[in-house]
Amino acid sequence: MPELPEIETIKVQLAEVLPGRIINKVEILKAKSFIGDKKQIEGKKVVGVERKAKLLLIELDRGVDLAIHFKMTGQLIYVNKDKRIAGGHPTLDFVGELPSKHTRVIFHLDQGTLFFNDQRIFGWIKVVESGELKVESFWEKLGPEPFDLDEEQFIKIFIKLKQPIKLALMDQAKISGVGNIYANDACWEAKVNPRRLANSLTRKQYTDLYFGVIKVLNEGIKFGGATAADAKYIDLHGLGGHYQDHFRVYDREGEMCLRNDDGIIHKLSLGGRGTYFCPACQR
Ligand SMILES: [Zn+2]
Repeated sequence: MPELPEIETIKVQLAEVLPGRIINKVEILKAKSFIGDKKQIEGKKVVGVERKAKLLLIELDRGVDLAIHFKMTGQLIYVNKDKRIAGGHPTLDFVGELPSKHTRVIFHLDQGTLFFNDQRIFGWIKVVESGELKVESFWEKLGPEPFDLDEEQFIKIFIKLKQPIKLALMDQAKISGVGNIYANDACWEAKVNPRRLANSLTRKQYTDLYFGVIKVLNEGIKFGGATAADAKYIDLHGLGGHYQDHFRVYDREGEMCLRNDDGIIHKLSLGGRGTYFCPACQR
């Protein structure tokens, strides 16, 4: 599932090519994937690309925007002659022929084509009035991003919660944008056991966790997000991110802790998600 750094990466890349482009025609191959009237956006010009947590917003002129949620397997691929930009959930479609059997919506632009692919069809694209999203329930349910909080505000959120700290970090209503990969690695940064109750950390652990979350998210953005180990082919084409080369504990079960403390990374399931930690340094 794409997380904040992956969405930020595709946002930055699309912001270089989409503004100024006209959406000539929208082809909807799967009705469930597109909410709204495509006539409202045909003929309109892209004026910007923004992100709120894991939601991407393509801003159009004359009062409408496109909100895009990637969910588990959504991806956006822009193709213009030899140029290709791909983001979201990485699969062979990043580098293969398009449209593919997973293509749900095609935006024919005055220069190039934008494909929305989604294997499992949980993602969606929605036509919204500019500004409308802010009052929509989805938007309101999102907590602030870690980047929008200072240390004290961060502590105030978690000191009240009686759930395991890793689950609290991933609760989008509390803070938004932290998914499984970065929650795992942030707990390691702070030397906190992911099962510890959120209200039970020491002052120093809250502080270390705050800076740990910011650090791993920034690193994720710096390396263009993470690409799964089974998607190495994407790298051959210069697409996909490299945060996977910098995982602290995520996906490192059985490997030595990076702190060289003789700890071996342990894996368990917490809230149904793979949870990794070092028993030696994460208390
Ligand atoms: Zn360790």
